[in-house]
Amino acid sequence: MALVCLGLEGTAHSFGAGIVTSKGKVLANEWDMLKPSQGGIHPREASRHHSDLGPGIICRAMETAGMGYKDINLIAFSRGPGLGPCLRTTATMARTLALKLDIPLIDVNHCVAHIEIGSLESRFEDPVTVYVSGGNTQVIAFAGGRFRTFGETLDIAIGNMLDVLGRYLGMEFPAGPLIEKEARAGRDFHSLPYSVKGMDISYSGMLTAAKKLVSDGVPIPDICYSVQETAFGMLAEIAERALAHTKKDELLLTGGVARNDRLTEILTGVSERHGARFHRVSPSLAGDQGAMIAWNGILQYESGHEIEVESSYVLPKWRTDEQDILWRH
Ligand code: AMP
Ligand code: MG
Repeated sequence: MALVCLGLEGTAHSFGAGIVTSKGKVLANEWDMLKPSQGGIHPREASRHHSDLGPGIICRAMETAGMGYKDINLIAFSRGPGLGPCLRTTATMARTLALKLDIPLIDVNHCVAHIEIGSLESRFEDPVTVYVSGGNTQVIAFAGGRFRTFGETLDIAIGNMLDVLGRYLGMEFPAGPLIEKEARAGRDFHSLPYSVKGMDISYSGMLTAAKKLVSDGVPIPDICYSVQETAFGMLAEIAERALAHTKKDELLLTGGVARNDRLTEILTGVSERHGARFHRVSPSLAGDQGAMIAWNGILQYESGHEIEVESSYVLPKWRTDEQDILWRH
């Protein structure tokens, strides 16, 4: 009999509930993203969003899957990394369900969940993963029992950089897709700070310089085009180095920014040069959602891990490489 896991995601702006079987079948994946009318994401507002809408989203997932609570065998939740108030709200819902239904509770690292749902979809066995989202920008690969961060942003995440620039340009949140659209009409490339430091990258200097182009009167499509080419070029450079160094032959692109076609095109080129296969996670599984949490819950439970409610406190700064990956060898 296949196990069924209900996974709750709530690290930042999105709350999601996903239901996945131990055969890797996604039965439901419902979510909602907080879109502030102005300014960025406030942790308290986001956690209120999760507590207001969470229960309804869980019910919707149960309906979509055509299941009753007695059909659920496991509860998994995003334990970190993320915004404290959001994590605590989500964890409280997960603990309540686990206690009420008297079933195992499993704590999931959000970044690891992104990698594993991508591996499930692509059937990749051991990829180099480029994980790009509103809160994270990392190049990750499995080595010595853990997912190691080969390179990452030293300051702001790529999605955050795009959203902040978009807000400055008067775009609504999330600005990533709007910047992508504008960039297609860009013609003139304007040089921006390209900062790759070893295997790490930095976006804050580039953001400041891009804002300056706005006040210099550079057309918006040219700014968006220049920003994309520079930001994606930096990412491609460290992804390429990770592929060359690890000699792995699969490259996986995941996270909300994976929806970008130009980034996909650039990384496809990187993979081809290294004889690696490439996969971009499909839009419904790319951003923050519960199916990835549920699938990771299954992987962990099947390798013998669960957590007591008493010790299930959240880990806002939980790094990708701090967890022993028991299900991979
Ligand atoms: P996540 O944090 O994984 O839910 O992803 C949300 C982030 O993805 C936001 O910062 C969005 O601006 C960004 N994003 C979504 N679609 C695109 C796109 N087509 N191009 C670039 N960024 C995108
Ligand atoms: Mg994410």
